[in-house]
Amino acid sequence: MRLAFAGGDALTLHLRMTGCLLLEEESSPPSKHTHLGFLLSDGKELRYEDVRRFGKFWFLPEGEKDPSGMERLGIEPFDPALTAAFLAQKTAKSKKPVKEALLDQRLVAGIGNIYSDEILFAAGIRPDKACNLLGEEEFSRLAAAIPERLAYFTEKNALTFEEYAKSGGKEYRNTPYLQVYGKSGAPCPRCGGTLAHMRIAGRSAVFCPHCQH
Ligand SMILES: [Zn+2]
Repeated sequence: MRLAFAGGDALTLHLRMTGCLLLEEESSPPSKHTHLGFLLSDGKELRYEDVRRFGKFWFLPEGEKDPSGMERLGIEPFDPALTAAFLAQKTAKSKKPVKEALLDQRLVAGIGNIYSDEILFAAGIRPDKACNLLGEEEFSRLAAAIPERLAYFTEKNALTFEEYAKSGGKEYRNTPYLQVYGKSGAPCPRCGGTLAHMRIAGRSAVFCPHCQH
């Protein structure tokens, strides 16, 4: 995300896995995971807290190019331009496994390892299938599953402001709703067969060998 200062400078930030921003009174003591604080003109302090410190900040003087990589991000998952034709045009010549393509932030921004498994399960496509072997029907199912699954999990993961602040942004609640991620060896929720596991581009992939082709 990008924060703009009144004077024209800006700050680009990426919270990564465990970073969160909390608005606190300046007088409240920082926690042991507070790494950065921004004093606001109303006397409050916007604090960056991060247990694992994977988050990154880039200060951008007015008019300077953003080095964060944010501008190279691909299409937003809820953009109506994310269609079967778009995915086919971008990937149909690639021999990369489809899961690897989904994890490439230059194609679609915001799909991580967990949701790539969930999207491919919903679309009935094996994670190791090469993009150039996907047919029109499969691109259509993929284009539908991306926003559908992400909207579903965004809703299931919704926290109130109080819950977010209380847990320091660390609370997750998607686990009970996941269909395949982290469930290798468990029964497939669709056919009852056993979910399988493989590694693709250094990441784990869980899928159903019966339901995904
Ligand atoms: Zn199955």
